[in-house]
Amino acid sequence: MLTRSALIYLSRQEGLKEFAARFSLFRKLTTRFIAGETIDEAIAAIREINARGCSASFDHLNESVDSAAETEAEVTEYLNVLARIDDTGIKSNVSIKLTQFGLEIDSELAYRNARRVVEDAKRRGNFARIDMEGSNVTQATLDIFNRLRAEFDLNDVGIVVQSYLYRTKDDVSALLKIPARIRLCKGAYDEPAEVAYPNKKDVDQNYVRVMQMLLSSGVYHGIATHDPKMIDATVDFAQREGISKDAFEFQMLYGIRRDLQEQLARDGYGMRVYVPYGKHWYPYFMRRLAERPANIWFVVKNLWK
Ligand SMILES: Cc1cc2nc3c(=O)[nH]c(=O)nc-3n(C[C@H](O)[C@H](O)[C@H](O)COP(=O)(O)OP(=O)(O)OC[C@H]3O[C@@H](n4cnc5c(N)ncnc54)[C@H](O)[C@@H]3O)c2cc1C
Repeated sequence: MLTRSALIYLSRQEGLKEFAARFSLFRKLTTRFIAGETIDEAIAAIREINARGCSASFDHLNESVDSAAETEAEVTEYLNVLARIDDTGIKSNVSIKLTQFGLEIDSELAYRNARRVVEDAKRRGNFARIDMEGSNVTQATLDIFNRLRAEFDLNDVGIVVQSYLYRTKDDVSALLKIPARIRLCKGAYDEPAEVAYPNKKDVDQNYVRVMQMLLSSGVYHGIATHDPKMIDATVDFAQREGISKDAFEFQMLYGIRRDLQEQLARDGYGMRVYVPYGKHWYPYFMRRLAERPANIWFVVKNLWK
């Protein structure tokens, strides 16, 4: 747990990013989790993912952006991604982060930026998902999502909830009333016990509880996890309740449990792979290391070789 907190702390240290990025070897190791630095590299990765029977979601890596000009570049990047999805015919939607669009500068700016991407996704018959970030921005993220959902349709824009937060069950009850398309994940940030379950057992129990709420709602949701226990619980619940395989989808991260991704796709479940790409890979990469101590050994071993 200490290692996880330490790595998440390091993920926020910009100086270290500069330092780490200087080592081409370190950058090479990131390719396990990151599809590349450019849209073309991400498209090549998505073509392979599609060939394995899975769909994808583009994630242009950047977060906590602190200048309006940079948020403008992020919007342009996403509009470009949506155009390239149409041009290439790949099966993919997009995932966005509101701090990438200026949430920590001005929430109106983040709303306007996100709106431009959602509007373009709608025009193209595509879908934009708003990722969930740290608990300091949970409410602001939900507020912007709710505004967008009031202006756009169920299949234009979706949101993410995290089973480690105490508030999530209530948030999900409110979101299902709208209704909203939701991605359920466990949560990747380092949260204090005041807002999040400190024990994995409770996070998992809450995950199963929320998964059951989602699957019973009749709306198409994303069950995002690599945890076989969560996947089995989802498959069992769906079978017990007569919920068909195409009424929801599983989602996993690029480079993680590819075997399980392919197995679920072969078994006839919708399987979406989240494909991060871009120059700002450092915080995302560090959060992936934090999730699994074995990943740190993978890095250390390879740096040594
Ligand atoms: C599609 C998708 C979108 C996501 N979006 C968000 C978001 O918007 N906000 C947010 O806070 N979090 C997001 N996450 C991250 C999520 O919250 C978890 O941090 C992450 O998925 C690990 O949790 P887990 O459910 O896989 O279970 P865990 O209990 O952490 O892991 C279960 C098993 O999965 C494998 N595994 C998990 N992580 C790794 C890893 N890094 N490297 C190698 N193996 C691993 C291991 O075999 C592990 O034993 C997303 C995850 C996915 C799959």
